[in-house]
Amino acid sequence: MHPTLAADRAHLPELLQAVRDLAARELASVDERPAARPGPAPAPQLLPVTGTGADGALALFERRWAPGFSGSAGPRYLGFVTGGATPAAVAGDWLTSTYDQNVSAGGDSSAAALERETVGWLRAMFGLGEEHSGAFVTGATVSNTVGLAVAREWLGERRGLSVSRDGLAALGPVTVLSGTPHSSIDKALSVLGLGRSSLTSVPVLPGGREAVDVDRLDAALTALEGEGRPAVVVANAGTVNTVDFDDLRAIAALKERHDFWLHVDAAFGGFAALSPAYAHLTEGIDAADSVCVDLHKWLNVPYDAAVQFTRRQDLQVRVFHNASPYLGLPALPDPDFLHLTPENSRRLRALAAWFSLAAYGSEGHREVVERNAACARRLGERIEADPRLRLLAPVRLNVVCFTLADDPTAERVASFVRAVAASGEAFLTPTVLHGVPAVRAAFSNWRTSEADTDRVLDAITAATTTAT
Ligand SMILES: *Cc1c(COP(=O)(O)O)cnc(C)c1O
Repeated sequence: MHPTLAADRAHLPELLQAVRDLAARELASVDERPAARPGPAPAPQLLPVTGTGADGALALFERRWAPGFSGSAGPRYLGFVTGGATPAAVAGDWLTSTYDQNVSAGGDSSAAALERETVGWLRAMFGLGEEHSGAFVTGATVSNTVGLAVAREWLGERRGLSVSRDGLAALGPVTVLSGTPHSSIDKALSVLGLGRSSLTSVPVLPGGREAVDVDRLDAALTALEGEGRPAVVVANAGTVNTVDFDDLRAIAALKERHDFWLHVDAAFGGFAALSPAYAHLTEGIDAADSVCVDLHKWLNVPYDAAVQFTRRQDLQVRVFHNASPYLGLPALPDPDFLHLTPENSRRLRALAAWFSLAAYGSEGHREVVERNAACARRLGERIEADPRLRLLAPVRLNVVCFTLADDPTAERVASFVRAVAASGEAFLTPTVLHGVPAVRAAFSNWRTSEADTDRVLDAITAATTTAT
């Protein structure tokens, strides 16, 4: 063994203690860490030939890199849809590396059973039934991609062919209908060879809504049937700009008259199911053929974690199986995970989620959802009352979408967002809503309090002055 490696092995408890001390210091101060660190990053150095040992690496990391890290784990980072990591989730994540299980095939470990238990907990939390099986993946983009890969196989089944066996050419053109899909759907369709141009937008409801007009969806499905084409519908449960929800029950009811695959992107909106006040927004989700929910957003587990669910595990196995030809297809139900997702070797990504759910239960996570929604409402009310700002949509759940009241050009909005980031007090991301340059403040961190929300408002108010 290399002497430095041997020395680290001999001093492992002290090394882990030093790392624990750094983590404890960082997490104790994360509430006050600047939300964003927009400054330049250190220039890359040459590959070390003689290493410094883990203590040296820790010191180097702390000196060169840690100061530039953002406060994305903290309470006033409201960009994108960004969760933090609950205490139990951090513990679970540490232990994931400690045990270093490969949850691809079973037989050697109970780790796969832990992932199955966690998927079952999540299924119950999001209001899905036993017919939905699931697996952990790295994020909602991959979850959407897996759901649409199963949809692609289903389209083949409808025509008596197997896309996974014979390729896409036999399938011919495909139509994917959606109201306000997330950009990751576009990416998934590119990856899957269905093509970005297969995504066909269906008009949304009037009045500035982002939810699909179900009558127009009905008409689009009728038109496709005229051409003898089964379709895929991507329903959106929580759009990123205004957290609008498609009427999932009404869309599911269309299945009585039309033949289509229903994929629901509930990346963060799925968490509405945890609260009696918001659960109506996801009603009907159980009728979906495939469902995407992100976990590194509102479950507040560390990156990277999401879950995918489907009712057609058989088709999923056809797409993703990695069995030797002479063994045939893996046995259902619950084949090894390597037959279900794009990865072959997989870390025990479920452990952080398992820890957080074991520690806080659905009630603890419901409290996070409701507190975040209350903070978003509070910020929305304050923004609405400020004549320098304009609220662009009602605060339906956890995102506040607003802009400058006076001349909101892309440049002015960008400079406003930069000014908020430069304050260190908050981090918001720019967007465009119905053609208007705008700003989003998305609440999904378990740490965020009312006092944080007021600090965010102060940062926004100050930046409004700067940007004019
Ligand atoms: C965030 C998000 C995604 C993509 O999630 P990643 O985890 O970044 O891959 C997909 N759909 C919706 C609605 C989202 O909010």
